[in-house]
Amino acid sequence: MSFPAAAPPTRLLMGPGPSQIHSQVLAALAAPTVGHLDPVFLRIMDEVQAMLRQVFQTENAMTMAVSGTGSAGMETCVVNLVEPGDRVLCCVNGVFGGRMAEVAERVGAEVTRIERPFGEVFSADEIQEAVQRVRPKVTGIVHAETSTGAWQPLEEIAGVVHDAGSLLLVDCVTSLAGVPVEVDRLGIDAAYSGTQKCLSCPPGLAPVTFGPRALEAMDRRTAKVASWYLDIGLLRNYWGSNRAYHHTAPINMNYALHEALRLVLQEGLDARFARHMLHHRALKAGLAAMGIQYSGSPDHCLPMLNSVLIPEGADDAAVRGQLLNQFGIEIGGGLGPMKGKVWRIGLMGETAQSSNVLLFLAALQQCLASQGVALPMDSPTAAASAVYLES
Ligand SMILES: *Cc1c(COP(=O)(O)O)cnc(C)c1O
Repeated sequence: MSFPAAAPPTRLLMGPGPSQIHSQVLAALAAPTVGHLDPVFLRIMDEVQAMLRQVFQTENAMTMAVSGTGSAGMETCVVNLVEPGDRVLCCVNGVFGGRMAEVAERVGAEVTRIERPFGEVFSADEIQEAVQRVRPKVTGIVHAETSTGAWQPLEEIAGVVHDAGSLLLVDCVTSLAGVPVEVDRLGIDAAYSGTQKCLSCPPGLAPVTFGPRALEAMDRRTAKVASWYLDIGLLRNYWGSNRAYHHTAPINMNYALHEALRLVLQEGLDARFARHMLHHRALKAGLAAMGIQYSGSPDHCLPMLNSVLIPEGADDAAVRGQLLNQFGIEIGGGLGPMKGKVWRIGLMGETAQSSNVLLFLAALQQCLASQGVALPMDSPTAAASAVYLES
């Protein structure tokens, strides 16, 4: 029996990740595979680390790309920082905060959750009260909650966490390269990300960074790290100067990340953040013209993940299906308690372009109209264009 070639179609990826990928990044994936200890590959690794430090805005020597997706970055941070019996505080206001708590429980931590309704964020005061009460070794929080579109402010959080003798662990999977992630200035002790959100690279690597306090905590461990594959003590020997074989790095994925990071830095971080914000404003204006509202607290909406309430009378699956089949556009549905209630429209990395915003708005309007959803008659593309013309 023979199988046809996989032949995936070209989509416009406007969901919660993966995002659109630049042709240079796809081309980098197809470069010849070399050995994982080839001097050329070792140079590429050094450059990936140097570029990741710039994107994370950190001097942390222990900054690298873990083999695996964003969740592998989460597991790497948790499993290395936490020993069985350690207290961990998890701030849960969406699916990914909940996942972090689940990972910490599996490592044998004594986990305390503090919760906010989906779409809301935590205040520094709330976190201060909790860390003083719980005295956790590690406090985990999500910077950009992809399940809700909430943008968690991080100013002041490290201060209250450190005052309680705790380490601050931040999920930056969706925020990195889309909004500022200032690891050193904010005092973040450990952070992880993924490649397929605002870095616009295929999924497969998880950038992580560990600061001096996190490394000290790892040095003081008495229990072995529960995961051999994700043990930073062992990975350090490969990503550090020893270059001792640990596991075979996904060579071509590292080429792709190298190219994606080059593109990020070529654009410049500030320009990239401004670009995300501009296209978010245009999308928001276009959606408002159709009477479509955001689901979360309006002061804390992420630019790269737009979680909007499904309008009255619209069929979630039918609209997303029509967008995909007729226009090749993928958007996300709701996760967890948001299922069937929201659409998640991504403007991550390469996806954040006016052509995509305008096409999406026109396509969504057509899908809703063809499915008989009663909408205001204002033109969403004209509203979006007005934002572009002003800027
Ligand atoms: C996507 C995402 C993850 C998980 O990353 P995967 O690459 O799907 O493993 C974790 N946290 C947040 C905030 C995310 O958006």
